[in-house]
Amino acid sequence: MLTSEQLKTLLSEPKRIVITTHFKPDGDALGSSLGLFYWLKAYKHDVSLIVPSDFPSFLDWLPGLEHVRIYTKEVQENQKLIADAEIIFCLDFNGLSRIHDMAVPVENATGIKCMIDHHLEPQGFHDYEYWDPKAAATAQLIFRFITAEMQDAGSISADMATCLYTGIMTDTGSFRFRSTTSEIHRIIASLIDCGAQNWAIHELIYNSSSEGRLKFLGYCLLNRLEVFPEYNTAMIYVTQEDLKSFEVITGDTEGLVNYALSIKGIRLAALIIDRKEQIKLSLRSIGDVPCNEICKTYFNGGGHLNASGGNSHDDLQTVINTFKSALPNYKEILTK
Ligand code: 5GP
Ligand code: MN
Repeated sequence: MLTSEQLKTLLSEPKRIVITTHFKPDGDALGSSLGLFYWLKAYKHDVSLIVPSDFPSFLDWLPGLEHVRIYTKEVQENQKLIADAEIIFCLDFNGLSRIHDMAVPVENATGIKCMIDHHLEPQGFHDYEYWDPKAAATAQLIFRFITAEMQDAGSISADMATCLYTGIMTDTGSFRFRSTTSEIHRIIASLIDCGAQNWAIHELIYNSSSEGRLKFLGYCLLNRLEVFPEYNTAMIYVTQEDLKSFEVITGDTEGLVNYALSIKGIRLAALIIDRKEQIKLSLRSIGDVPCNEICKTYFNGGGHLNASGGNSHDDLQTVINTFKSALPNYKEILTK
């Protein structure tokens, strides 16, 4: 395994570099990737940022977004960039299955693979790691990587600060989750000093819904929310027809699960979406309720203790039944 010192030496000369992040990148995935992109560009590296899929439209104002390449849109060119890269940074994921079609090209690539991530249970495909499962966001790790590991605190531009702020803000639920430590607030203060306009970023992310998205939200809360009071659990499910009739696009379902969690006394919330090719499940919890264990045991997934995801190839009703039938196994912890 490479040390930070060795990586720093490698980065002292311009290199061909690819940065990638997980499928359907969220605010932290794109924010941390663009933050690192700007830092590497400033040192004249030849950097390509390649993501496996499209991303939510509420991120389409991020500085540097015009540099983001979507893997599936130019497969051959992107495969060449990956194969030719001397260094590949893998951000906000730690298992190659999370980059879907890019997994094989990245696995076969000869470049040095650097994993910077905050998810549990890394799968070990990398040559360098800056990994901290206690970190709230990968953007927090990029800040630390640049300032502490690379000892380059003076290099954070306003664009970088904006990207990293966005990553930390979105992964901490706007500085609400238990992962929001005093270190997070100190980093955020530094990012504001470096030029991140905190109020403008909140506006751009949270006040950017379409009318349709809001009506879809209202529909789900009225018709698709079920509460299981004996297990302090709430669930929202979305059918294929719902997705079609409200013309739901990437990002429209982001945050929906938190409405289920916002009911007083609820300790576990599920969002179950029938995405045709598979059922996608998101779990959120309060306290010790282990979303990651539930996702791993029943839904092929994982994540953090209080926020996890998974998927299934069963039909929607079967997945709903599986979720309901798991609840008695967690009754004690759910009703504590
Ligand atoms: P979300 O519910 O927002 O899709 O995901 C919540 C958390 O769980 C994120 O940190 C995400 O990285 C993780 N996660 C989502 N889907 C999966 C999955 O299929 N496998 C694993 N291991 N983690 C996932
Ligand atoms: Mn993250």
